[in-house]
Amino acid sequence: MDLKKEEIIDLLNIKQANINSLMIKANSKRENDIITYSKNVFIPLTEICRNYCGYCTFKKDPNDKTAIILKEKNEVIEDLKIAEKYNCKEALFTFGEEADHEKKVKEELTKKGFSNMIEYTYDICESTIAKTNLLPHTNGGIMEYSDLKLLKEVNVSMGLMLESSSKRLMNTIAHKNSPGKDPDLRLETIANAGKLKIPYTTGILIGIDETKEEIADSLLEIKKLQNKYGHIQEIIIQNFKSKPGIPMENQKEPSLLDMVRTTCVAKLLFDDVSIQVPPNLNYETNQVFLLCGADDWGGVSPISKDYVNPEAPWPEIDHLQDLTTDAGLRLKERLAIYPKYINNSYLNDNLLNKSSSLENKLS
Ligand code: SF4
Repeated sequence: MDLKKEEIIDLLNIKQANINSLMIKANSKRENDIITYSKNVFIPLTEICRNYCGYCTFKKDPNDKTAIILKEKNEVIEDLKIAEKYNCKEALFTFGEEADHEKKVKEELTKKGFSNMIEYTYDICESTIAKTNLLPHTNGGIMEYSDLKLLKEVNVSMGLMLESSSKRLMNTIAHKNSPGKDPDLRLETIANAGKLKIPYTTGILIGIDETKEEIADSLLEIKKLQNKYGHIQEIIIQNFKSKPGIPMENQKEPSLLDMVRTTCVAKLLFDDVSIQVPPNLNYETNQVFLLCGADDWGGVSPISKDYVNPEAPWPEIDHLQDLTTDAGLRLKERLAIYPKYINNSYLNDNLLNKSSSLENKLS
């Protein structure tokens, strides 16, 4: 539905019993009683990034001995093969922005015969398709039109968090050292993905000192792109989490009700798009978001120290199953591409065949 900026701001400030009414309204927008999740494997191709976001817990310094400078292809394939044993369907490739501007990354790429991260990612995704049953989804920061065009050939979907459309945050601790968080660049990347018909994931980050007005603006910017291109398949409403050692460690986290209000508004605005609130960042309060119209749990990955035996059940999936059933809803696995995008307009023949066959197995 369409909401004006002032209406959104009012809803983001709503109090007391009106919050219950907002939740009921947002929840009534859900198309069915299904909550989806994707069995994925999360593979950082590099942990190097040119940005220094105040809330980042991902990037590492190139001199950090534990940093992944460039993950070897054979290691990637090994991880994918393990994931395949767990019946994962999504290979989620991430990397920091413009990592190939860093000398150590560049050297590794050159040694392997690649001139940049996009070429390397293309090669990894191509092998993923050729050698495994997994479908690639790449999330590697802002990209040029030509980069997106190339990666579209080997990805069923891609993603980039908008975080916020606020230029003001470029002068605050959140984004002042992160040229890639310029909202114009991020909106341009998301728009280019729309022009190229790439099924896309985006979202906003709540609690990085943005105002309610800025949240409204961010959602409306995404809405504008969705109205124009229709390629956004899911929107993540992510809450800032404070962690020791990050520049924003003293920043207050958003309240549960702030997250509730924002999730409800997102559902009202985007009734044709899946809404996800990351369960791992809201362990105690996950179920509340199901009552706000959230309809996706995101990715669940088996490649972690918790999983050593492919025969063992996945605690996370069992837990999500319990939470979902308890709320009177049904858990269902999905692919990295949502069903309505599995067609010739969005996928080449190779990706279409592969996605269709996996989708049929899930149905
Ligand atoms: S863009 Fe920001 S949050 Fe993402 S990896 Fe780089 S520094 Fe971290």
